[in-house]
Amino acid sequence: MSTAVNTTDTKEPKFIYAFGGEQADGNAAMRNLLGGKGANLAEMVNLGIPVPPGFTITTEVCTYYYNHNQNYPPELEGQLQAALAQLEERLGARFGDKNNPLLLSVRSGARASMPGMMDTVLNLGMNDETAKILTNLSGDERFAYDSYRRFVQMYGDVVLGLKPETKHDIDPFEEILEAKKHKRGVKIDSELTVDDMKELVVEFKAAVKARTGKPFPDDPMEQLRGAIGAVFGSWMNDRAQTYRELNNIPASWGTAVNVQSMVFGNRADSSGTGVAFTRDPATGENIFYGEYLFNAQGEDVVAGVRTPIPISELQKDDSRLYDELDAIRLKLENHFKDMMDIEFTIQLGKLWILQARVGKRTGFAAIKIAVDMVREGLISKNEAILRIDPNQLNQLLRPVFDINEKRKAIENNRLLATGLNAGPGAASGKVVFNAHDAVEWTARGEKVILVRIETSPEDIKGLNVCDGILTARGGMTSHAALVARQMGKVCVAGCGNLIIDYKKGQMAVEGHDIIIKEGDIVSIDGGTGEVIAGEVKSKPSDILQVLISKEMKPEDSEIFQTYNDLMQWADETRKLHVRTNADQPEQAANALAFGAEGIGLCRTEHMFFKEDRIRFIQKMILAENDADRQKALDYLLPLQKKDFFDIFKVMNGLPVIIRTLDPPLHEFLPNEADAPAAAKYLGISLEDLNQKIESLHEANPMLGLRGCRLGILHPDITRMQVRAIIEAAMDAEEQGYKTHPEIMIPLVTHVNELQIQADVVNEIAEEIFIKRGRRINVHIGTMIELPRAALTAGEIAKVANFFSFGTNDLTQTTFGISRDDSAGFLPHYVEKKILPNDPFQTLDRSGVGRLIEIGTAAGRAVRPNLEIGICGEHGGDPDSVEFCHLTGLNYVSCSPFRVPIARLAAARAALHYLK
Ligand code: PEP
Ligand code: MG
Repeated sequence: MSTAVNTTDTKEPKFIYAFGGEQADGNAAMRNLLGGKGANLAEMVNLGIPVPPGFTITTEVCTYYYNHNQNYPPELEGQLQAALAQLEERLGARFGDKNNPLLLSVRSGARASMPGMMDTVLNLGMNDETAKILTNLSGDERFAYDSYRRFVQMYGDVVLGLKPETKHDIDPFEEILEAKKHKRGVKIDSELTVDDMKELVVEFKAAVKARTGKPFPDDPMEQLRGAIGAVFGSWMNDRAQTYRELNNIPASWGTAVNVQSMVFGNRADSSGTGVAFTRDPATGENIFYGEYLFNAQGEDVVAGVRTPIPISELQKDDSRLYDELDAIRLKLENHFKDMMDIEFTIQLGKLWILQARVGKRTGFAAIKIAVDMVREGLISKNEAILRIDPNQLNQLLRPVFDINEKRKAIENNRLLATGLNAGPGAASGKVVFNAHDAVEWTARGEKVILVRIETSPEDIKGLNVCDGILTARGGMTSHAALVARQMGKVCVAGCGNLIIDYKKGQMAVEGHDIIIKEGDIVSIDGGTGEVIAGEVKSKPSDILQVLISKEMKPEDSEIFQTYNDLMQWADETRKLHVRTNADQPEQAANALAFGAEGIGLCRTEHMFFKEDRIRFIQKMILAENDADRQKALDYLLPLQKKDFFDIFKVMNGLPVIIRTLDPPLHEFLPNEADAPAAAKYLGISLEDLNQKIESLHEANPMLGLRGCRLGILHPDITRMQVRAIIEAAMDAEEQGYKTHPEIMIPLVTHVNELQIQADVVNEIAEEIFIKRGRRINVHIGTMIELPRAALTAGEIAKVANFFSFGTNDLTQTTFGISRDDSAGFLPHYVEKKILPNDPFQTLDRSGVGRLIEIGTAAGRAVRPNLEIGICGEHGGDPDSVEFCHLTGLNYVSCSPFRVPIARLAAARAALHYLK
């Protein structure tokens, strides 16, 4: 070859990166190009960790492939040949070589890990010839033919498409395998003889020929091309697409393909394979956690077909290997500064690391690991905050079984089994045996526990909706366990004594004469692994016991202390304030315990629905004259005053925004069943009552007589409420409490509406101040929850001291989608990607958000210090909280239990946009 500079060569894009031996072409920073697996394999090589050599085909090839009608870039073939030649040279092994035949694994590896969602082929390069050579080389015919039959099955499934689509379809290979085991009278694969394995290879290949019409490919190069194509193809399979949707992974990222030389965990009893985590992925405890199987290949551990041995046993079985693995554990943690998930193989006593990635973990573990790593000096507080998805805090708040109730159940012989505590929390629900039923049953409002012999990626939709997962097989690293942890589901895995019969829709339990049928209730404890027949009452978590019921002292709960440290760091970082939506003193107290800094919305209508008040509200609505109406309001005044007094007491000086009455009047009137009793109580005829109800009926109550329109039509209601608020605040102050009352007028669309209601507030306030001979500060503000209000916010700000965006109504009126009727079609919109999210859950930044931006800017232009927040449901949604931070709002207000989530989300938003 000439040495002249070849300009086309230098310009050729690099599609393949090699790794192995002492050095790698890539490193961990290149995960977008090499995928997580490829980048970390390269990084481990650079760290001196033993990794079987190989190469990575970049994600750019995947993107090219899908952008070019499933064709590869023209340069790929040449680079593939060169990479293979380099690998052969490095290993001294060659495809089809008589002395050292090259065998490869081909695996996917996207930028974000997608466990089990895409395809893998192991033992590639096997054919009749290689099997014989491998027998001679290893002196172990069984190993050679075990590898061969595994390869044909895997390749047939993955590359040639014989894999069944659903659990109900028949896998031709499994059918042949089962028939063979049955014929031999054995239960597990490893009890089959070498001759059986050889027969399996022949029968498997015949099945391929029968299904595809083509012989099974024996040429290793053809096998390799096929496997690479299958991995790229699997990027678009159903389960990968569902997983991406659930985890917001863009399809445009593509997957890389990792081609790696095989090391064999099924070589002999001095070989094995395992999966380990550098810390416990369920609890976050700093212990080496994992499991392995002797004489097995990687898929056996992950697929959950055999239940593996805990890694601590390896310490006893082979302390040298354990120590080596433990040293790698520390090296990886110190380098990646995170909990890592490692796949390893031992081939004839030599340890190889096949993959390392940041490990999936429960919400518990995520928080504990992040906080512990700060305490250990491995990461900063900011990094800890950025590592935790705020929704993971839900797991810390989730109930656990009441210990006494559980004890009683166990004493009553209801403990069915104890499996692995794969996903913490407590769940009771009706048993279903497949993902399809789980989806259907939960859609009709049932709580379900999905029970499977083992789960596989096909079950993903069912796993997503169920309340708990129970499996008979598989360890802590089985698919069910991994997915459960990630989704924050309660999960008990590997419950060996459950005998599940899908066909009959029931399960028996060894050692029990009970049969659990589909629809029966079971309870599972993901913290202990216990499975209990029937329902068990649950009780609040540690955090709730410390903060809310005060049954536990902070120092007695490690989980609480971890949570508390994290929340303090979040509070030091965030710019947004977090308030709560609360209308009962108890709710306000809970929210305070969760860190709320005020009440952003007290919905007074919720206070009117109480038993002793509803009749007086009805009296007020039905009153024929002012005197009767006033009588009803006079009755309600002291009750409202007491409500507000109690809330002011709890909040003691923190801002409390109280909103005047909002809902449609007819909501207060009795329904058909209650009408006779109501008529009797109110002293009117049923006929008159029904007529009144009829006259108040609205075709579209969401856009009818509600919000400030009520107060404008019936100013006496506003007068009564304002009097109750101001007198309660003044009473509270007289008793030594501090108060910060803010009165908020709802559903304003024109400044005149606000002005009319503000005049009522001022009139009553003046009257009280004069009577009491002193004044207090009362702020008057408005909800901005209609597009016109947002667009004319400058006008409105001339009257309002503060704005609170009511994003529920603002979403409703911006989209023209009724809050009450959206369930009929919105899920379809989200599923079909017509809308990216449900806009009632995640704020629509470009539409509703735009109105918020316009309203904020216009309001602040008139009143620079205008206090602005939001109090719609979005106030507790992390993505929406981020938007509020970016828009420069002062606070978000959300339900009490979402206050910690909003605090953390606000801190993350502040850090994301720090740079
Ligand atoms: C809103 O519309 O966002 C709001 C908070 O008010 P409500 O939900 O009571 O209508
Ligand atoms: Mg509203």
